[in-house]
Amino acid sequence: MKGIVLKSTGKFYKVKLENESVIEAQLKGKIRLLDLDVTNPVAVGDVVLLEKSDKTWMISKIEDRKNYIIRISPKKKFLNQIIASNIDQAVLVITLSKPRTSTGFIDRFLLTAESYHINTIIVFNKQDDLSNKDQTKQNELADLYQGIGYEVLFTSAIKKQGVEELKQKMKEKTTLLSGHSGVGKSTLTNAVDSTLNLKTKEVSKKFSKGVHTTTHAEMFSLPFGGNVIDVPGIKEFGIAHLDKYEVADYFIEFQAKAANCKFSDCLHINEPKCKVKEAVDEGEIHVERYLNYLNILDSLEEQKEY
Ligand code: GDP
Ligand code: ZN
Repeated sequence: MKGIVLKSTGKFYKVKLENESVIEAQLKGKIRLLDLDVTNPVAVGDVVLLEKSDKTWMISKIEDRKNYIIRISPKKKFLNQIIASNIDQAVLVITLSKPRTSTGFIDRFLLTAESYHINTIIVFNKQDDLSNKDQTKQNELADLYQGIGYEVLFTSAIKKQGVEELKQKMKEKTTLLSGHSGVGKSTLTNAVDSTLNLKTKEVSKKFSKGVHTTTHAEMFSLPFGGNVIDVPGIKEFGIAHLDKYEVADYFIEFQAKAANCKFSDCLHINEPKCKVKEAVDEGEIHVERYLNYLNILDSLEEQKEY
């Protein structure tokens, strides 16, 4: 029997079987670990094969993952933890204020998602509660991100604006839902489908109060087809898997320019004849994106020192 992992809680896994029933399963003996140094062999989103022995469901095989996102394990620093797998797209919910989402956060998220080949839709929520100043800033940001190729939606979870559009985007796909706490992820998912909200909230609350700020992902099925993966504490899912030379590859508008830099290993910091820097000077690459890029390089340098 095939199933998909909805949640992992240490020894037990919540799995949705092909017949839609949800069961609890355990791992069967020593399952082949993929050639990864990971602390968790089975992740949310994994497609697994199960066998029933006595009354217990056992996971006997993990199908190859289409993709997966990892972070450094909070408990074992040299090991990675797979947060979720088989993701089709990410929805990044942001607000200009209440709470503020910085472009630093957005760019870090986009970089991470790009590095996993996951497409991101940026959702500007709380449209019903925008100051004039926020409106101006929002226009700028929407232009910026649309200009480099990201899809942008405008929603009000409370007034149900843009919700149908978001629903259409989520249909038949597995969506990683992210964004700062308080931007309206739960309210928005509830507006998309009323059966989802409570669960999302419960999970976020339960774990945000824990002593260990572990990231526990959970997947919810959408009754109209598709799934949502909710990851509380997504902020921590980082870019530790990236080499500093790779970062520019995932700043999607840098790529075309970087191809013509004088040096093939150009980091676009202060090398001569750097086409990325030239594009920044000419306003073809937004200076904020460039500064965020430099910040990320810095933070990677710091990580290496530990
Ligand atoms: P989450 O932490 O991202 O899941 O955020 P919640 O869904 O819990 O929402 C945080 C707060 O923002 C709640 O008080 C919501 O009522 C409010 N909220 C969510 N969406 C909107 C919106 O579109 N407009 C306004 N004005 N408030 C919203
Ligand atoms: Zn360069």
